[in-house]
Amino acid sequence: MRIEQIDFFYVSMPVIEDRADGSQDALVVRVQGDGQTGWGECEASPLVSIAAFVAPMSHSACRPVRDSLMGETVNSVDDIRCLSAKVAANSFDMLQTPHTLSGIEIALCDALARQKKMPVYKMLGHEKKYPKLAYASMLFAPTPEETGRHAREAAEQGYRAVKFGWGGFGVNLEHDRALVEAIRKAIGSDVRLMVDVGTLWSNKTDEAIKRVQMLEEFDVVWLEEPFESMEYPHYAELSRHCKKLKIAAGEGSHSAAMAKNMIDHGKVAFIQIDTGRVGGILPAHDLAEYALKKGVQFVNHTFTTPLALSASLQPMIGIEKFDICEFPVQPTQLAQDINRPLCVTDRNGMFDLPDGDGLAIEVDLAALKKYLVQVKIESHGKVLYESPKI
Ligand SMILES: [Mg+2]
Repeated sequence: MRIEQIDFFYVSMPVIEDRADGSQDALVVRVQGDGQTGWGECEASPLVSIAAFVAPMSHSACRPVRDSLMGETVNSVDDIRCLSAKVAANSFDMLQTPHTLSGIEIALCDALARQKKMPVYKMLGHEKKYPKLAYASMLFAPTPEETGRHAREAAEQGYRAVKFGWGGFGVNLEHDRALVEAIRKAIGSDVRLMVDVGTLWSNKTDEAIKRVQMLEEFDVVWLEEPFESMEYPHYAELSRHCKKLKIAAGEGSHSAAMAKNMIDHGKVAFIQIDTGRVGGILPAHDLAEYALKKGVQFVNHTFTTPLALSASLQPMIGIEKFDICEFPVQPTQLAQDINRPLCVTDRNGMFDLPDGDGLAIEVDLAALKKYLVQVKIESHGKVLYESPKI
């Protein structure tokens, strides 16, 4: 397949609110060539990522991402790896490059697998899919009562694992305890519980250590992202203070190397990878294999659309040992409209990807049109980018 066209669709809810819900907008990518189409999604600030695709060359390591891709040929997984390496070399001085590339790489994997008439996970070498325990991924509500209500609803819907994150957690120990206690009370002792604090303590280990004992009392499986993404010594130190509780992180990794550092030097027990950020499906798959060797559990990170969920699960769906996956349960209307929503398939709370070629997810063009943000980028008297016509 020759890459003839790469389109970015910046879609957004009418109003973006100041809260930690990454499904309020999206950057969907379409790659076309030789009659074949593939779709992907960047986990990114859409406009900045589009800019990295088209911005005029600034110097030889700061070239627009599109210059490394247009007109190239992709007939194998190795071809995609070569193109990713080319982009990384030509555009490494633009920090947004991995975000921009990730969505394109996912779309290339989708197109190639569709051309080969097989699912992406099979193209990666996996024989079959193993359903995963889906954890209902939610944000903390402002009060313990409301948070507990959301937890109860998830358990009633059949989820056997829940994760709450961001929101008001971290205000003080008392409030944090009330939030976690309300969840545990609502879901009972059998449902797995995880807590995500969204890099809350930056690099302050003391604040995190104060929470460890409390979270262990409520049988919390993991504490996620206590610190910023590259604070490896702080992650390692916190891990040493945990008895039963484990530390999870990695969603902020912009490269496989960053995620490997989190495993080797941050000593996390769960490595969470977003294919829309780490460079796409192939580096994520390499990381899944790496985690397996290191005795670390690979978990997808996804908080947006079914397209992103499918992409993030392909690297791990064929590995039986990785038994739990993130499943966003509070997506915006946008994230519900762009693809047909996926649901947890059985009462045991297990999730399986749909069968089909590529990522097995269709994109609704009418929905893209409804949410499309009109963008035009010009410089030197030339139009560099204009939102695609649908
Ligand atoms: Mg998180």
